[in-house]
Amino acid sequence: MHHGDEVYITRTGKYYHYFDDDCPTTARILKGTTAARKVKEEEAKRMGYTLCRHCSKEYAEDLAERQGCGGVAMLLLAAGIGASSIFKFFT
Ligand SMILES: [Zn+2]
Repeated sequence: MHHGDEVYITRTGKYYHYFDDDCPTTARILKGTTAARKVKEEEAKRMGYTLCRHCSKEYAEDLAERQGCGGVAMLLLAAGIGASSIFKFFT
């Protein structure tokens, strides 16, 4: 999923949203149930909007997927830390 520079802001919300319909708010925007307009992400930030919780979660997952090998390395690292703390526990 590509996230461009542009994000959605709703008229009443404090959050801005990516164009990803996994976010309930974005889904409503795409359906036309919620009024929103497109702005540049930096502009939204400048206006005091923060990234929506759902969208930031999706974004983090997207990044993790895109990193691929990096994600596996992180997992191995985490497993290593886990194993060493278990080892400490037994010594
Ligand atoms: Zn959102």
